[in-house]
Amino acid sequence: MKESLGDRQKRARQILRRLRKAYPDAGCELDWHTPLQLTVATILSAQCTDRRVNLVTPALFKKYRTARDWAATPRETLEEEIRSTGFFRNKAKNIQALMTRLEEEFNGTLPSDFDVLLSLPGIGRKTANLLAATLFDQPGLIVDTHFIRLSNRLGFVANLTDAVKIEFSLQKIVPRRDWTDWSHGMVIHGRRCCYAWKPNCEGCPIRPLCPSAFTAGWSKAACAKPSPYASAPSKGHAKTTARAACSRTSKSA
Ligand code: SF4
Repeated sequence: MKESLGDRQKRARQILRRLRKAYPDAGCELDWHTPLQLTVATILSAQCTDRRVNLVTPALFKKYRTARDWAATPRETLEEEIRSTGFFRNKAKNIQALMTRLEEEFNGTLPSDFDVLLSLPGIGRKTANLLAATLFDQPGLIVDTHFIRLSNRLGFVANLTDAVKIEFSLQKIVPRRDWTDWSHGMVIHGRRCCYAWKPNCEGCPIRPLCPSAFTAGWSKAACAKPSPYASAPSKGHAKTTARAACSRTSKSA
């Protein structure tokens, strides 16, 4: 039976209550002290662990203090300094384009308006939401790989990997005031329990509220079971799409 929106909202509230209790330390795990530092750390964290970023940033933050510092350094120098975070050429290009724009149009500071943030080089919805939520107290759904995997496993979306579509779907389910906490809860639960390949359903604090308990992860038998909560057009289609979603989310994290 299809779960109503009201029931989804109620289940989300119960999940968040349990996550808050299980992970009272949930929050952004990047090290930073200024808005520019958080912005750079977030750009570097794409396709890279927060731990690796936190190893690289202390030397960078000591050397580059203003938007002009970041913009003025030779591109090759910055590339070498951030090489270990992966995709270093693209990241260096984005950081310098961003800092140049901030210097030219915003007096070297980061604007607080979400749409303006989104218009800046190197800043997509995930980064804009994280910056707005962390720096400017504006609730945001920060959709990363853990968020995507968990949204599917928890049956709040069916067979979706598009971060923007997932963000808009979850906006209807999670109250706005809880968007930031929900995001941190998804990330920390994905990192510490609901692993991509072998989720620890046995020790999971939200297991009674999860339609994928003991069936998620990378196994054909496990992935064959469609979510009882997610809507699907037909039984045959549901089996196919559930298997595809499970396969994709397991591989992507
Ligand atoms: S019960 Fe298992 S699949 Fe569901 S959220 Fe917990 S760890 Fe993940």
